[in-house]
Amino acid sequence: MPYMLDRNRLHDLLERERQTYETRLPRSRAAYDGAGSLLGRVPMTWMNKSAGRFPAYLDEARGARVRDIDGFEYVDFCLGDTGAMAGHSPEPVMRAVRDRLGFTAMLPSEDAERVGAELTRRFKVGLWSFSLTATDANRWAIRLARQITGRPKILVFNFCYHGSVDETVVTLGPGGVTLPRPGNVGPPVDPALTTRVVEFNDLDALDRALSHGDVACVLMEPALTNIGIVLPDPGFLPAVRELTRRHGTLLINDETHTFSAGPGGCTRAWDLEPDIVTIGKSIAGGVPIGAYGVTREVADRILAEKDADLVDVGGVGGTLAGNALSIAAARATLEEVLTDDAFAYMTTLAARFTDGVAKAIEGLPWSVTQLGARTEYRFGVPRNGGESAAAGDDELDDYFHLYLHNRGVLMTPFHNMALMCPSTTTEDVDLHTALFTSAVRELTG
Ligand code: PMP
Repeated sequence: MPYMLDRNRLHDLLERERQTYETRLPRSRAAYDGAGSLLGRVPMTWMNKSAGRFPAYLDEARGARVRDIDGFEYVDFCLGDTGAMAGHSPEPVMRAVRDRLGFTAMLPSEDAERVGAELTRRFKVGLWSFSLTATDANRWAIRLARQITGRPKILVFNFCYHGSVDETVVTLGPGGVTLPRPGNVGPPVDPALTTRVVEFNDLDALDRALSHGDVACVLMEPALTNIGIVLPDPGFLPAVRELTRRHGTLLINDETHTFSAGPGGCTRAWDLEPDIVTIGKSIAGGVPIGAYGVTREVADRILAEKDADLVDVGGVGGTLAGNALSIAAARATLEEVLTDDAFAYMTTLAARFTDGVAKAIEGLPWSVTQLGARTEYRFGVPRNGGESAAAGDDELDDYFHLYLHNRGVLMTPFHNMALMCPSTTTEDVDLHTALFTSAVRELTG
């Protein structure tokens, strides 16, 4: 007989965990209730995404550990949703920040060439430029793609996330139309004017969408990571490359999360050939940074555009982009922390984590998917973004998040995602396995 989730039992367990959370964290609760000067009570409105009524407040974080202001310590598998994939406050990055006298001076620093060369070794595309966020890296990559192709639209996959880039806050409607994603805040124009959208792993739909000849670039994660992890079907990515080339469309790999696949993300791990790679979050050890790299051919096309103002107010760039602090932190992170050896270790740990979850959910219609150092469970077995969205279950998410939180383990608020960093240990992974297994048993009886 197929498994039927007992919703009443889930409600009761969730209520129990919510109460435990509220009584355990009086200082966090008071900080939240007393916040009168912040929009939505938090420094950024998305911090209200908490399984409890209020978020736990940060005291300090080091390595794979976070401590909240009530004095509880957690094993952190959230790692700032990848921003802290190098671990919190890694020593080489702390040193680089301390030694970097002058954070932002409108002058290039010599570290930048080192960082560019290392990114080239890892991601194959040869020429790099920096931003402060992955969102801006994507935004500027899209502008460059439009400029050199002369085409107005971009294409993304259903239920992608690439940051708060206007063109990407969309969803796939009936008959293949582009709709604003539910909740899209003040879209500047109807996104159907800027964007085509198809399901991941649907090559026929991709071919049809590109055949209009108006798509400047496909912006994609080589595996979806923001609606659970959805892996590409065998042959999908080579076919995407072939189709984009055939239709004169540039291919942008957003490796911000899929960097977990290895030192050069999916691009190197799977031998992909994008025209542009974008990345952010983790490559400066938690100091804000983003980057985009282009092939020499794309670079030549960009630099040949005499009417594109890349130096002043043409729409690509920011005052603090490429600042000396971000770049110094990136050099330390890439050369000393997120090394090839570190990725091998983190991936082994993620495999152990995945095995533990797979055993705990045996017999349930759920799945767990690993992508290098990252792993995620989902309440279904989806093959594309739409199916994965349909498998979402907020109550189940909240139950597991709170169960784990109340017992010393942090997961990523927007996902059931766990990421390993160089200081995560096998004991940390085994603690999660034990707690997750008992949470599943309590739920399923
Ligand atoms: N690209 C991807 C794949 C992401 O997951 C995110 C954020 N989760 C971004 C870009 C944007 O990153 P940021 O919010 O740091 O700009």
